[in-house]
Formats: sequence, C-alpha cells, structure tokens
Amino acid sequence: MSTNRTFTMIKPDAVENGHIGAILEKITAAGFKIVAMKYTQLSLRDAQEFYGVHRERPFFGELVEFMTRGPIVSAILEKENAVEDFRALIGATNPADAAEGTIRKMFATSIGENAVHGSDSDENAAIEGAFHFSGREIY
Ligand code: ATP
Ligand code: MG
Repeated sequence: MSTNRTFTMIKPDAVENGHIGAILEKITAAGFKIVAMKYTQLSLRDAQEFYGVHRERPFFGELVEFMTRGPIVSAILEKENAVEDFRALIGATNPADAAEGTIRKMFATSIGENAVHGSDSDENAAIEGAFHFSGREIY
C-alpha cells in the first residue's frame, strides 16, 4: 500500500549554486506538501549508511565525499502517489538523460552531482524519512 510520502534531499551542489528556493518552488507547485524539513550537513557515517546499498559500486567514495562536502536540505513530502510522482518530477539520475522541465534537467550538473535525491520505493521512503527525522519533527 502506498504511504503517500517520499523523502528528498537538495544535495550540496544545488545548495552551493543557490537553487534551494527554486527547487522548493518546483516541489510545492507540483502539489507536494512539506511535512518535515531541515537544513543540515551529513557526517561521513551518515552518508555511508544512507547510501549503503551502493557500498560496492565504483562511485561510492566519490558519492560519500560529495554528499558530505556541504549542507543539504532534507524533507519529507506528502502527495498521492508521492514516490513515483516525485521521481518523475526530478527526472533521470543523469541530467543528460532527464526530460525537459525536470529538476535535474534544470539544476543538476552531472550524474554524480545531480541536485536532488528522491526515494525509489515506499519502503525506502519510510526508512530514509526515519533516518533524518524523529516523529515530533514531522507535521
Ligand atoms: P538518488 O538515490 O540520489 O535519488 P537515483 O536513485 O536516481 O539517485 P542511484 O542509482 O540511487 O540513483 O544512485 C545514487 C546516487 O549516486 C546518484 O544520485 C548519484 O549522485 C550517484 N551516482 C549514481 N551513479 C553514478 C555514477 N555512475 N557515477 C557517479 N555517481 C553516481
Ligand atoms: Mg536512489
């Protein structure tokens, strides 16, 4: 069953490039309600755990270094069909393959530095949301 929630991060590249406001505008204009949000920075351990499924991939070291190099915005978003609709809104992992008008097409610079994260399943949305927020930070 769908939880109607997904989890996102505005990644360090998009924060550095001044895109927080524009990305949040795209997200809310697409009908997502922000139910939790914080401005924070991942520790090395946080990033290694969060992206643990990619531990064996050749880009893992690069990914962890990137995700910890500066602050991020993390948020839980609510909307009917949230996971799938949010993946459509952000576009393909590689911005070169992302559709026109998607967040990654507009704001990402490369496959590694791709501006935003979006959960890939309801199960992972719940795990990732709980990793970043306690129950009393979700409204
Ligand atoms: P995310 O999980 O961040 O929303 P995604 O689900 O589109 O992205 P994943 O396959 O889960 O893509 O990869 C996680 C992240 O690892 C990517 O968003 C990107 O930052 C990085 N990454 C993936 N593939 C590569 C690659 N070939 N080279 C460098 N970095 C990569
Ligand atoms: Mg992913």
